[in-house]
Amino acid sequence: MEWMAEKNRLLTAGREADAIVERLNLKAPIDPLAIVRSEKPFLRAGGADFGDRYDGMLEYHKSKNRFLLFYNTKYEAEAPSGKMHTRTRFTIGHELGHYFINHHRAYLMRRSHPHHSRGEFLTDAVVEKEADSFAASMIMPSRLARPMVNQAELTVDRIDEIAEHFHASPVSATFRCVSLSDFPCAVAGIRDGEVAWIFPSEPLIQAGIYPNKGFLPANAEEPWTDFQNGFGDIIENEGRVRDWFNIYEKDDLARIQVTEEYIPVIRMGTLLVLLTMDEADVFPDEDEEDEGE
Ligand SMILES: [Zn+2]
Repeated sequence: MEWMAEKNRLLTAGREADAIVERLNLKAPIDPLAIVRSEKPFLRAGGADFGDRYDGMLEYHKSKNRFLLFYNTKYEAEAPSGKMHTRTRFTIGHELGHYFINHHRAYLMRRSHPHHSRGEFLTDAVVEKEADSFAASMIMPSRLARPMVNQAELTVDRIDEIAEHFHASPVSATFRCVSLSDFPCAVAGIRDGEVAWIFPSEPLIQAGIYPNKGFLPANAEEPWTDFQNGFGDIIENEGRVRDWFNIYEKDDLARIQVTEEYIPVIRMGTLLVLLTMDEADVFPDEDEEDEGE
């Protein structure tokens, strides 16, 4: 139940971002600073190189009844010319989440002293996830991204194209694509030699294929060793549903083929794995119905 409540909070945060993008009639790639400007004079933003102190911060100044959004520009040196770095875009989106989500804004306005560290805010991890969910939806809004995502099953190449279009980082685009996918798929994170989490698409859950964690599939052993040795290439392999997921009593799902694409993300210390499968294998009954029509 707690898991469901959290999921609903994250969905609500994402919808909030979708609504703002619609209201302002923004097109891809979304300009987060255009959203900041739309809130003038209650919100102002400024970027500077804050080194390793923080990526972003939102402060409320009671005397002026104004919010100030700060973002770290340290990644800008690596950005393509004329474009803001995808990480900076995500940071501004995250802080905008704190500004737009009502209970976040109320929390900041209740604080008596204007300065507060980001660390304090971090105490409620769900609050941070809500701001991330807001940012992910702001950068890849549902109405614009969903049709593109669902043109076909996901592959790393397709996700890269979509990320390019929305000017999203490949990692955040991977999560967003899986969450918007109408196909059975998931993204897994391998950390410290085991699957730390698996994030599923909605149809995967509908099929009765559930996330699992705390193990390492045999297929993943070699990619994990390569990752630890600093090997940065994407590796593709074929596995089975039972290698990755909980299927409980549904044994017919166990042997369904799963395409594994291993994506090394050094800065996260995580080996991501995009897991996709054939829709017709997962939903065979629906397929028969289609043929009868
Ligand atoms: Zn935050």
